[in-house]
Amino acid sequence: MTANKRTFMVFMGPPGAGKGTQARILQEKLGLPQISTGDLFRYNLKNETELGLLAKSYMDAGDLVPDEVTIRMVEERLTRADCAPGAIFDGFPRNLVQVVALDEMLADEGGLSLVPMLTVDDDEVMRRITGRRICRTCGAVYHVEFNPPKVAGVCDIDGGELYQRDDDKADTVKNRLYVYYKQTSPLVGYYFAKELLAEVDGSQPPAAVTADLLAVLAEHGIAPG
Ligand code: ADP
Ligand code: ADP
Repeated sequence: MTANKRTFMVFMGPPGAGKGTQARILQEKLGLPQISTGDLFRYNLKNETELGLLAKSYMDAGDLVPDEVTIRMVEERLTRADCAPGAIFDGFPRNLVQVVALDEMLADEGGLSLVPMLTVDDDEVMRRITGRRICRTCGAVYHVEFNPPKVAGVCDIDGGELYQRDDDKADTVKNRLYVYYKQTSPLVGYYFAKELLAEVDGSQPPAAVTADLLAVLAEHGIAPG
């Protein structure tokens, strides 16, 4: 008898494309945990761990946190029980060193199942990032205009305070986009060559993006359980 293959996906797309928003929706529908390296770093920052303090200066500048610590953090996250069925990576890998590390981590699992790529143009990315607000306690993601909470400044889910990430202010966003094009966008070609890439129009409203993602996943045999 063969065990069911675990499902691992990487959500690709520029900062602000909607990866986190969609990964949070799909983690419920598919029963796969979202592994967001940005969320993990922010959690460490909030708790003032050694890792959080190390990551802070890189995040504030919009640069990548060193590969060694990022990769170790993901390896550790993958040992948790909730990853038994697989996982959705959001914000990882972000450069070629991380891609190779992820391939090694998943070598015994048959590798990735699919790499959905959310396409959104730069103007829309700027509008999305500069209006993004995050819940201080649960990390839920809102937008002041496109996805506002019921009560301004308050999380619908747990009543937590909404804040703007320091790195979502215009100056840092420019560097983050530069880092994306220079270091992360070459991964699109890598995954295309491996026949894993599936483009989805990320400029549509959230529900339409979710519907397109679910359709693409179904085409590849990945369906809600
Ligand atoms: P966004 O989705 O807007 O790009 P993230 O929350 O994914 O933002 O990341 C915020 C910051 O955390 C990045 O600018 C970077 O400093 C750090 N970070 C997140 N993921 C990685 C990673 N895989 N490698 C290195 N640094 C990362
Ligand atoms: P990423 O994880 O790719 O950086 P997020 O999921 O955090 O992106 O989304 C960035 C911002 O855009 C958030 O404020 C979010 O509420 C908003 N957003 C996400 N998806 C859409 C969409 N399809 N249309 C409009 N705004 C969106």
